[in-house]
Amino acid sequence: MPGKADYYELLNVSKKASQEEIKKSYRQLAVKYHPDKNQGDKAAEEKFKQVSEAYEVLSDDKKRARYDQFGHAGLSGAGAGSSGFHTMDPFDLFRDIFSGFGGGAFSGRRHRSHGPPPGDDLQVKLRLTLEEIAVGVEKTLNIKYLDHCPECRGRGAKRGSGWRKCSACGGHGEVRKITQSIFGQFVNISTCGRCNGEGRIIENPCPSCSGEGRTQHKKRLKVAIPPGVSTGNYLTMEGEGNVGPRGGSAGDVIVVFEEIEHNIFERHGNDVIYELPVSFSQAALGDEQEASTLYGKIKIKIPPGTQSGKILRLKNKGIPSLNGYEKGSQLVRIVVWTPQKLSREERELLEKLAKVSGHSVPKAERGLFEKIRDTFLG
Ligand SMILES: [Zn+2]
Ligand SMILES: [Zn+2]
Repeated sequence: MPGKADYYELLNVSKKASQEEIKKSYRQLAVKYHPDKNQGDKAAEEKFKQVSEAYEVLSDDKKRARYDQFGHAGLSGAGAGSSGFHTMDPFDLFRDIFSGFGGGAFSGRRHRSHGPPPGDDLQVKLRLTLEEIAVGVEKTLNIKYLDHCPECRGRGAKRGSGWRKCSACGGHGEVRKITQSIFGQFVNISTCGRCNGEGRIIENPCPSCSGEGRTQHKKRLKVAIPPGVSTGNYLTMEGEGNVGPRGGSAGDVIVVFEEIEHNIFERHGNDVIYELPVSFSQAALGDEQEASTLYGKIKIKIPPGTQSGKILRLKNKGIPSLNGYEKGSQLVRIVVWTPQKLSREERELLEKLAKVSGHSVPKAERGLFEKIRDTFLG
């Protein structure tokens, strides 16, 4: 094989280019050289394959590091062909003429980058108390996940053996099908079924992971939860999920929050509702009463003449909003508590009170019958 072009030169970026720059440059070049845009132009097609190959390597930090250190030699397994990409056999393309009819529009399709499939995301449910939600909390999660097999370091191949290039797709990981129709030529690209899009096949599978390249592991993950979350909110920990088979990139851990129902507080958005029972005499005479908040106990002033059902608002004793700019209130609902058992002394005093006040209630609370009676019979 003649010497291969430098990946950085192909993508027209410096050796220190950021992932953003690499991606941007690749996008421009892939559009420029895409075979759908350059029908029949062999040079463009070859260039398209080269920039795609360069992007596949440089967009992957691990592959890029290997390439930086060892050049092209660092990227081919023992059994893999040195070129990686070949011009496709035209017979392969035309053999499937009638079997597929994919969308021909270039704009509607992305270049499918081949290689090992990425790993799955892991979803973890995390239950939080209202007190934890109010101030934020750090939790440690015990995660069972799939990580690279230590025996084969994620390659999936037995030590000392390698991969060979998939013959069905020539190492591209995808199969192009060209369909002729009265509207013109349509090109459909589909994942190679033989190698599942990886472009390579393992010669001898690793005995420890059966060629999967990954095994079960456990880890502890610390997660910092900001104040103000609600049930259904989630947090994504990028790259902490399962790795893909045979060196595929890792998925994410998605932590989904669930609020544990509180025994005394009821949450309404960022406000919390709290019921405070007071005695009849406290409500009538006024008093100071201890009450719970999410931030500890406080004293609440009950004004004289407080009706049952009155709501007192304690500002900034609710839940902070997720954006951190405001805080809800604690709404204290006063409930006048009626005793169910009376001592002799209490009974005597209440009977005396009843006599003095004449069972008086405000006029507004009297029923229609009383009003009619007062008007016509009084
Ligand atoms: Zn293994
Ligand atoms: Zn294949």
